[in-house]
Amino acid sequence: MRTELSMNPLTSGPFYQNTMKIVEDAGRLVNLNPNALERLRYPRRAIVVNVPVKMDDGRLKIFTGYRVQHNQMLGPFKGGIRYHENVDLSEVAALAALMTFKNSLLGLPLGGGKGGVQVNPSLLSKNELENLTRHFTSEIAPFIGPDKDIPAPDVGTDSQTMAWMLDTYSVESGYSQTGVVTGKPIEIGGSLGRESATGLGVVYTTQKALMVKDLKMSEARIAIQGFGKVGMHTAIEAYALGARVVAVSDVSGGIYTEKGLNIPDLVRYVKENKVVKGFPGAEPISNEDLLELPVDVLAPCALEGVITGENAGRIKAKIIAEGANGPCTREADEILHKNGVMVCPDILANGGGVVVSYFEWVQDIVWLFWTEEEVRNKLREVMFKAFDTVYNFSQKSEVNMRTAAMGTSLERLQRAMMLRGSAW
Ligand code: NAD
Repeated sequence: MRTELSMNPLTSGPFYQNTMKIVEDAGRLVNLNPNALERLRYPRRAIVVNVPVKMDDGRLKIFTGYRVQHNQMLGPFKGGIRYHENVDLSEVAALAALMTFKNSLLGLPLGGGKGGVQVNPSLLSKNELENLTRHFTSEIAPFIGPDKDIPAPDVGTDSQTMAWMLDTYSVESGYSQTGVVTGKPIEIGGSLGRESATGLGVVYTTQKALMVKDLKMSEARIAIQGFGKVGMHTAIEAYALGARVVAVSDVSGGIYTEKGLNIPDLVRYVKENKVVKGFPGAEPISNEDLLELPVDVLAPCALEGVITGENAGRIKAKIIAEGANGPCTREADEILHKNGVMVCPDILANGGGVVVSYFEWVQDIVWLFWTEEEVRNKLREVMFKAFDTVYNFSQKSEVNMRTAAMGTSLERLQRAMMLRGSAW
């Protein structure tokens, strides 16, 4: 009999349990070995740290941080670091598990990990953020490393965060260790094309999904929730291919115009004003209403759990490309599938980020750096192949794309576990 996920603080959260239901469904489909399944249901290790930070006003404040290492059957743990006030242990564990399945699906020699600190980064000064990042890195340093566990940016962190992590880890090692993080600035070992990689991957996936639906990118109408690292680059890349981006949003709310937003102008506007709100020539729209617009493609690129059993029936998009991790709940999935909406799941659609993180890690090992064109071409090859594999699986087994993606991923993980003797 299987153990209860609800009894363990790592696995008890709704996002984690939702993720494991997808694993169990797909596991039944591919006859997953019960020992392999039991192993995948639990993260291997979790580190919880309380980080002291010297604030600008002289006070000392404690922030709680996590690093969860889910599975390393295929290679070193790999996954982002999130700074957000709602971060908790089980959310980080769910995100770590998704990384295991994403890396397996994409054929990368990497396992799954994720980290996070419970903090609203917009309330901290740059100095305080550096302080926090350096202390957090010191605390988790024994557990990370270029061959062990390689962090990257996620919500609320960026290339500057990675530069501080790299520096702190290198100082403690006594020599420069560029391979300890990815998503770092180009000047210190970053890869060309990493910044746009997740958004570009969302667009490559969308291109393929549109083809299946007999639609063209140059004629598609797209709405994007979230205008951060993923959402903004999804908009830039889709616009460059001629798509009409009719709405985007961020934490301040959304903007909409039927004729399509001028994305280069919007990017300049956001650089100056920090938010999309108030962009000239567009009308305001709420984050909730944006999701229900009659568009060809909806790309949720902010946070998890935004499409639920409550609003899924009102979604009019033909395709959902999950830029964010876990934006659709299980209840939503069932309704969307019944209504014929093609959901390109997170572990496929937003995999471009970790693919180029992998490219960055490889370039750091050999000290030979690729052109942006090489990076983009190699990324397209991986994303198109992954889409075809998942789509063919979904057609053959008559299941939705999420179950097909997870089934493909589990088959590879199972083979690795059997070969290593980790499941029997
Ligand atoms: P980010 O911090 O750069 O951007 C997040 C965006 O979401 C911002 O525009 C923010 O204003 C908006 N947002 C926050 N709360 C919101 C709310 N309640 N409603 C609407 N918008 C809101 O983060 P990111 O790196 O773009 O990550 C976004 C999602 O993509 C996350 O789920 C993350 O795990 C996933 N993801 C990121 C990467 C990556 O390479 N950065 C890779 C794969 C998946």
